[in-house]
Amino acid sequence: MRVALAALATLIAASPVQARERADLLIRGASVVDVGHGRIVPRQAVAVRGNTIVAVGPDRAISKRFGAKRTINAAGKFVMPGLWDMHVHFGGGPELIAENKALLPLYVAYGITTVRDCAADISASVLEWRAAVAKGQLLGPTIYTSGPKLEGYKPIWKGTLEVGTPAEVNAALDKLHAMKVDFVKITDNTLKPDTFLYAVKEAKRRGLRTSAHTPYALTIDQAVDDGLSSIEHIDYLIKAGSPKEAEIGAAYAAGKVTYGAATDAFVDSFDAAYARKAYRRLAAKGVYATPTLNMGRILAFLDREDHSRDEGLAYIGPGLRKTYEWRIERAAKATPEEVAARHKEHELSMKVLPMLQAAGIPILAGTDAGYLNSFNYPGEGLHDELELYVKAGLTPQQALASSVLTGPRFLGHADRYGAVQTGKAADLLILNANPLKSVGATRKISAVLLHGRLLDRAALDKLLAQAKARASR
Ligand SMILES: [Zn+2]
Repeated sequence: MRVALAALATLIAASPVQARERADLLIRGASVVDVGHGRIVPRQAVAVRGNTIVAVGPDRAISKRFGAKRTINAAGKFVMPGLWDMHVHFGGGPELIAENKALLPLYVAYGITTVRDCAADISASVLEWRAAVAKGQLLGPTIYTSGPKLEGYKPIWKGTLEVGTPAEVNAALDKLHAMKVDFVKITDNTLKPDTFLYAVKEAKRRGLRTSAHTPYALTIDQAVDDGLSSIEHIDYLIKAGSPKEAEIGAAYAAGKVTYGAATDAFVDSFDAAYARKAYRRLAAKGVYATPTLNMGRILAFLDREDHSRDEGLAYIGPGLRKTYEWRIERAAKATPEEVAARHKEHELSMKVLPMLQAAGIPILAGTDAGYLNSFNYPGEGLHDELELYVKAGLTPQQALASSVLTGPRFLGHADRYGAVQTGKAADLLILNANPLKSVGATRKISAVLLHGRLLDRAALDKLLAQAKARASR
């Protein structure tokens, strides 16, 4: 008995219940934003080790349990997952590689901890940055990329994989597979409809997700039935909401109407009751949608909005600013009828967005920011996009979910992202206001945790100042 007691005493001494677990960072007294359930959990502490959240819970319990190298007092502040921009572009030619690379810290300064690059013409660099960010050698958001996109022969886009036959599609997908791309982007500038369908089918067979601009000659249902995973730009959902979708598409394919006239015809023939059914059907098929709503708004109102004094211009390089002229010149040539048609399309887009949400189509928040896409600023643009979602009728919770929940789910990383929870990535925002009350609170950033690294307000301001200094050279 005495021996047993002595053994027990030794055991107790060897496992001191008071010993605290180690954390690199402890965020104390915070309100945790549970985006999934649309609620705030008050007085929480978040313990971070390396690039992972190791515990979240009542402040007193967690702060007793962990000894941290650094502690932040986040009383009165709100902790939520870092933002994802699910549609950006890095591009504009080899001479703009440095300017594109400089956008990486800019995204972080605006609280964007992940971006999805939807193809352009500098894929080799983007793939390098993806690896360097993942290894912690480059300060930037986590990058998911399509690599070069699939297109038809001689498209207006540079840096694409041009395909016109099944064999060419196979070879292109082999190439993308070797690059370990995160999804496949397909656009329809010169791509033939049958090649398009073969590409989505074959990509699906290989287990690759696809994002596309669907050729007008095909209905959106045809594309989705063959395996399309996400529809980029809300225009294609307006198209799906027209009872004349197939008819107008056939007229375009036969060369009877121009692309612009077909676009206007989809808008003019849009029918809300028909569209609701179509969206429910598409939702049941599991397709996602990236509306890029604000890009459409910016382009629609280039006739009356003066962007020359936008603050965002100061953070991007002169080469990127120059690529903005393409859209401006095109807009300047528009006739009053064309301008009116664009306004009308944007007004309809604002009505379509809540219809997609109501139908259950998962919405991916993406900006289309990057070269060419005028005045849609990398970083800032996502906040504009989320605010526009709320203006169109989504709740702040739904808007936030489209960025921090749907993004990871689309790319197959929901286990690692989407919540402030044990085991999730330490990609976090500490905000000065409640984003579930007003989505604009995502702009009020007190600190960003990027892969576990703390960037406080002073560090974020320094990134902004550096971006400005570099851009003005
Ligand atoms: Zn795009």
